[in-house]
Amino acid sequence: MRRLAPTWAGAQSRVALPTGLPEVGVRHARREQEILNRLDHRRPLVVDTRELGRRPGSMQRVSRTVPAPADLGLDVVGVPEGEDVELDMRLESVMEGVLVSGTAHAPLAGECVRCLEDFEGDFEATFQELYVYPGEDADEGTPRLEGDLLDLEPVLRDAVVLALPLQPRCREDCPGLCVQCGVRLADDPGHRHELTDSRWAALQDLLGDQRAGQVDGDDSGTQSRTQSTTDTGAGRADENQEN
Ligand SMILES: [Zn+2]
Ligand SMILES: [Zn+2]
Repeated sequence: MRRLAPTWAGAQSRVALPTGLPEVGVRHARREQEILNRLDHRRPLVVDTRELGRRPGSMQRVSRTVPAPADLGLDVVGVPEGEDVELDMRLESVMEGVLVSGTAHAPLAGECVRCLEDFEGDFEATFQELYVYPGEDADEGTPRLEGDLLDLEPVLRDAVVLALPLQPRCREDCPGLCVQCGVRLADDPGHRHELTDSRWAALQDLLGDQRAGQVDGDDSGTQSRTQSTTDTGAGRADENQEN
């Protein structure tokens, strides 16, 4: 797994913890990265819950726009680093900690699985996570507050990966590539191949003869088919109309 690019995670991250911050929250930190970097309230994805307070039932709405961290998403589709991610969150104080629910609206860039063209768009991811207070009993892996701070980044990453399309397409009905010549069909809606090549034409005649022969020799065929003449051209025209 690649580490976070040191855009904003690195430079400011070796600031010492505020004195008095319970160490238990740090020890239980989910990720190695968190241990290395400790939470810094100046990082865009660190949310300070001091204003919310710890009285169960209190609620606070937080909206902010943050630059997308590196590697947010998957290989073929994701949020370009540094692009604006709009977060709308609701923080709720509960007995054990702070419940964070919200949405992230983010731009999207990827490669279409059908036509292989790069495309851009946007999408919305929703998330909800309980951050337990330092010192509270909780299962391993449960995110914790560090003092009054919580790190939204792991939660955002999980939410984004879940919300990304598994089969990213430049558009819902992307027609893909021509199987014969590889041209991108969306760029050329009328694209098709006429069988003008003499070798194809010969094959087509042969195919026409064969079909006419089948029709003639088949008594149980449909009415229109049994009427087709020995003229292969007319036979083909009939068939085309049926289809
Ligand atoms: Zn496409
Ligand atoms: Zn083609």
